[in-house]
Amino acid sequence: MVAPAVEAPVVIGLDVGGTKILSGLVDRKGNVLAEREVPSPDGSEERVLAALDEAVEALLDERVAAIGYGIPANLERGTGRILHAMNLPLDDVDLASRSRERFGLPVGIENDASAAALAEWRRGAGRGASNLVMFTLGTGVGGGIVVDGRLFRGWAELGHIVVREVGERCVCGGRGHLEVLASGQAGDRAARVLYGPDADAHTLIERATAGDDGARAALARIGESLGVAVASLVNIFDPELTVVGGGFGAAAGDFVLEPARQAAGREAVLPARNAVRIVAAELGNEAGLVGAGLVAFEALDGAR
Ligand SMILES: [Zn+2]
Repeated sequence: MVAPAVEAPVVIGLDVGGTKILSGLVDRKGNVLAEREVPSPDGSEERVLAALDEAVEALLDERVAAIGYGIPANLERGTGRILHAMNLPLDDVDLASRSRERFGLPVGIENDASAAALAEWRRGAGRGASNLVMFTLGTGVGGGIVVDGRLFRGWAELGHIVVREVGERCVCGGRGHLEVLASGQAGDRAARVLYGPDADAHTLIERATAGDDGARAALARIGESLGVAVASLVNIFDPELTVVGGGFGAAAGDFVLEPARQAAGREAVLPARNAVRIVAAELGNEAGLVGAGLVAFEALDGAR
């Protein structure tokens, strides 16, 4: 996977998750030229930071002009300081400043789902749009927003949109949040109810594909929750399209997207109702890494 030598600058992107750290050399067009994956270490902040440094050092050469991180965390607007990470022991850490000092390069940092949205906007399903929303349906639900031709730098905690006033408890402590209703874990729960304790979201999708009405209905309920959340955002800023990715979202496909379109069409106000577009993401598992690379180029170009 080593690329031919190129003179143009490349960057290192890191898609940091609770289970793995994916890193790669990314060029300005968003092509991944080399890629590396290591498990995320358990334990302390020190060990996580050491693993992140190693991931950079393993790819660092004279072509590398900047570093970009996609982190599952809330970031302080303006500074990019990590306030609180999900599934990683990173709290109140200025990773970007730390890396800038350590490696002497421009460093960008973004929430991982926002980085994925940036990638789908620049390089994937959202090319050419000025306003879009992306939902990543994985173990949890994340998202990102592009508004007026710029990635929204706020929290965009789209998994915690309230869909039901009274509903199951979310990991954040709230109730009826989208993450409870439309994540892979929601698929796992529905599968266990239908098929027993060993079933999971994969089972649900397999059964739906085979024509099982119960599985299709369960996925349709998940899609309905997603569509209601999409409509709420459409009613606020009328994005040209909504992109749906993440492992569960990609696997479930139209079993979830079609009911989502119907629900969004029902709940969105006119005339947006007639133009709601919900489409599948195009970049798959690489969205986070490509997005982290694009964040690095933004840092290189002095965009922030
Ligand atoms: Zn929540």
